[in-house]
Amino acid sequence: MAFTLSGDDVCQITHPSPIPNPYWVAFSSSAAKLIGLELGPNGLPADPAWLEICAGNSLISASYQFRSPLSTVYSGHQFGVWAGQLGDGRAILLGEVNSQELQLKGAGKTRYSRMGDGRAVLRSSIREFLCSEAMYSLGIPTTRALSVVGSELPVRREIIETAAVCARLAPSFLRIGHFEHFASLQDTSRLKELADLLIRDHYPECQNTAEPYLELFKQICNRNAKLVAQWQAVGFCHGVLNSDNISAIGITMDFGPFGFMDQFQIDHICNHSDQDGRYAYHRQPQIMHWNMACLASAFLPLLEFIHAPNDAQSLLREALEEFAVCYAEAWQSLFRQKLGFTTAQDGDTHLIERLLQAMHDSSVDFTYFFRMLSQVRKEQELQTIVLRDHFLNRELIDQWFADYIYRLKSENSSDEARQKAMNLVNPKFVLRNHLAQVAIDKAKQHDYSEIQTLLKILTNPYDEQAEYDAYAMPPPPNLERVEVSCSS
Ligand code: AMP
Ligand code: MG
Repeated sequence: MAFTLSGDDVCQITHPSPIPNPYWVAFSSSAAKLIGLELGPNGLPADPAWLEICAGNSLISASYQFRSPLSTVYSGHQFGVWAGQLGDGRAILLGEVNSQELQLKGAGKTRYSRMGDGRAVLRSSIREFLCSEAMYSLGIPTTRALSVVGSELPVRREIIETAAVCARLAPSFLRIGHFEHFASLQDTSRLKELADLLIRDHYPECQNTAEPYLELFKQICNRNAKLVAQWQAVGFCHGVLNSDNISAIGITMDFGPFGFMDQFQIDHICNHSDQDGRYAYHRQPQIMHWNMACLASAFLPLLEFIHAPNDAQSLLREALEEFAVCYAEAWQSLFRQKLGFTTAQDGDTHLIERLLQAMHDSSVDFTYFFRMLSQVRKEQELQTIVLRDHFLNRELIDQWFADYIYRLKSENSSDEARQKAMNLVNPKFVLRNHLAQVAIDKAKQHDYSEIQTLLKILTNPYDEQAEYDAYAMPPPPNLERVEVSCSS
């Protein structure tokens, strides 16, 4: 349980604001297992009280077992600038079930809502729901989504939309921003309390080390470094890597204007509000490192308990340097697997980078390319490799395929074994923006079937599911690009 911190100024008891006439929009039976929910034959909770709970209209019994329901305070850097106090402006923690925190997003105003209305709209809630569950099924650490509940309650954004509440689950919703908050207030005792809780519940391996806080810092960096590499390996851009959206336990969180890339552009920007491309695909590692540097600053007082200030700084600086190493190792390992290599060889990184450059130059579909790559055979004539037709510069890509096949031959894996292994790491199905948009458009007409279809497909992203081949295809070229922004 992450939040047993004392004081109303830290965790404020906050009751969700009810929504009128709630109805199920989406539900994940897989997430429901996490909290041992009994489901009826229709795949929804057998106990109808859960609709009211997931709507924010009533509480779970666990809510009464500790200080809850509650919203928490955090601060953070947004788009590289210190934003001061933020907090759960529209998220309310109902309580803990089976070591999972159950949180409602969009459940109304909290003490930290600032100018906001505490609500979330239907489209962004559906996107968060689908992406959380898709991420999980891809094998990438993430918050989970139990449900989306809708209501006709109007919510004003650029236009009037309707409200929805997304029920999220995670072992902890702690963010880097929580640490930054107490550090900014120079509240070292709360900072220590928070770090101790995190170690106790989520990083027990740090407990009996000589420097638990330094070790904790390193572990947070490691987890987040690997996380970014995993995102990149499936062509994912988070969209808003502000320090208040970065998890203290290294899971993907706060799905907003994210995107799985269709056509590969190394500098792809998925968030329409990110004009400078701060959170572009290729900048994500650098930005995550920057966020870890913010965390290092927040950790300074913890190390200063036992070290002189200069020494504390050097220790954290050294620890921060491990981020790049950890990220590079994870990235190389993941991309080697994507290419079907079982060993690490000199020159692999260069080979991967040459491929990505060629894909970028020809705007090749990221997911489709890697999925189809497994069909290349060691004895194949270059001219018969179908994927070469996706590239503008055939000579260049032929040379790359020649080098790739030469590299494949340096290992003695069979084509069949390699294909099988590659299909376990190169998903056939990802939540492409245009697919999510179809589900959203239908949901606005009260047809929620497409959400369940997508959920079903994305729950097994590495399986062939031939009947859903159309969902594996790039968006039709004439389809207008779906723009997503911070407005949600
Ligand atoms: P985000 O960009 O969604 O990560 O949100 C940044 C900050 O703004 C967080 O503190 C959120 O809780 C808060 N926030 C976002 N949307 C709303 C809203 N509609 N009402 C209140 N607070 C919000
Ligand atoms: Mg956020």
